[in-house]
Amino acid sequence: MRTVQHWIAGKTTTGSSDRTAPVFNPATGQQQAEVLLGSVGDVESAIAAARDAFGSWSQTSVSRRAKILFTFRELVNAHAAELAELITDEHGKVLSDAMGEVQRGLEVVEFACGIPSLLKGDFSDQVSTDVDTFSFREPLGVVAGITPFNFPAMVPMWMFPVAIACGNTFVLKPSERDPSASMRLAELWQEAGLPDGVFNVVHGDKVAVDTILDSPDVAAVSFVGSTPIARYIHERATATGKRVQALGGAKNHAIILPDADVDFAADHLAAAAFGSAGERCMAISAAVAVGTAGDAIVAAVNQRARDVKVGSGRDSDSEMGPVVTRQAQERIVELIGTGESQGADVTVDGRTLEVAGHEEGFFVGPTVIDGVTTEMDVYTEEIFGPVLSVLRVDTVDEAIAMINANPYGNGTAIFTSSGEAARRFQRGVHVGMIGINVPVPVPMAYYSFGGWKDSLFGDKHVHGPEGVGFYTRAKVVTARWPRTSADSEASFHFPTSK
Ligand code: NAD
Repeated sequence: MRTVQHWIAGKTTTGSSDRTAPVFNPATGQQQAEVLLGSVGDVESAIAAARDAFGSWSQTSVSRRAKILFTFRELVNAHAAELAELITDEHGKVLSDAMGEVQRGLEVVEFACGIPSLLKGDFSDQVSTDVDTFSFREPLGVVAGITPFNFPAMVPMWMFPVAIACGNTFVLKPSERDPSASMRLAELWQEAGLPDGVFNVVHGDKVAVDTILDSPDVAAVSFVGSTPIARYIHERATATGKRVQALGGAKNHAIILPDADVDFAADHLAAAAFGSAGERCMAISAAVAVGTAGDAIVAAVNQRARDVKVGSGRDSDSEMGPVVTRQAQERIVELIGTGESQGADVTVDGRTLEVAGHEEGFFVGPTVIDGVTTEMDVYTEEIFGPVLSVLRVDTVDEAIAMINANPYGNGTAIFTSSGEAARRFQRGVHVGMIGINVPVPVPMAYYSFGGWKDSLFGDKHVHGPEGVGFYTRAKVVTARWPRTSADSEASFHFPTSK
């Protein structure tokens, strides 16, 4: 049995813990590896390696840092297919989807390659007579990333390229369910010339996470995962004075107006609800049909749900793979049952789907539930599976009010041909990322990604300009170079410009 080890100070290590967790292949249902669950000491070693590396990395010129990022970009690009296979085998998503995830992560690396421009400060000449003011940004120190199972390459790459480019050193605690992609990324960093200790990976569970949260040597924590854990991370890490961005779960609504193109909307709804088996934080899980849009959109989405080719992620014919674990599969099946028992209509039922040759795999078929209300469990819970709930309202304003009453605020979309309705929607919803005829509006790497309300705890979104702001702090210098002491003009009143 392969054991996934930690990566500390530029090499793999077994550390001191004898606790492990199984790593499954979701398509076969078989355990394929085990991952070490780091002890307090293991995490402390990773943090110490990062702390030791910070002195020289933070003093490495910004051009040199950029060159290493460019080399890393080339290596990740060259190994994209291999990374995608690692993702598919441990997460279950289809290979084309895994390639898309690597590509979106790579775009953050490309953004971070521009670090010399991104870190340019401001300069004001002659703010007072013979006085200039300028500003620049410095790295924080050791920063940590704690990441979820659903994007084992992309979500870590939302964080570490920007953090490292800014001059920080990094400790990554990836999901214990699909830990291998981060190890390959660590090897590629080394090959790119990143000094040992600048990027470290420590695997584990709550023990590892709590050690990061409590460490006085960690300056900032980036977290992505479920809302209860995001809230916990934010509370515990800010209590020890850290800067924290903690992205949580979601319930993303798409509203469909009667003037929308039904086939266009149905194609995109199906892709957004069932792509990656619904295990995306930006997946559409609630379709809100406005006015007369309901029956036509449900019929069209039902047809597409039935047509989705479900199978192993390694099979090039598959459009949707399994969910990540047996527990996830059982939880999703149970939640669909609550929809039925609470009075909704399961119009396409994926609960009993079997995939030939993969009978032990963790499969759930695409599922559509019509007649859902906001009190039902399928609406109030984040299902995180291939399940689309359909709700019906009379007006756009009712749909906006429904979205705003929901505790999450990650993403949302509108399907319409009315610019007026789209504009009312974009201005009215309390949500961080909005799509207009775009169902999964994940911002490009040079914008920042983040939700509102229970989808993000903290002030800064990830990557893009806010990522640079999160991983640095500003200095503003006011300077004068007097020619003689006669120029002193010192005074006891508070300094004002002249
Ligand atoms: P999770 O919250 O279970 O785990 C995330 C991380 O927290 C993992 O590294 C895990 O080891 C750690 N963790 C789990 N339980 C912990 C505990 N009790 N104490 C300390 N650490 C703990 O999330 P997941 O199941 O891996 O991922 C799915 C969730 O992530 C969904 O809710 C999804 O919406 C969310 N997500 C959000 C975004 C976003 O951008 N907002 C992106 C991707 C995923």
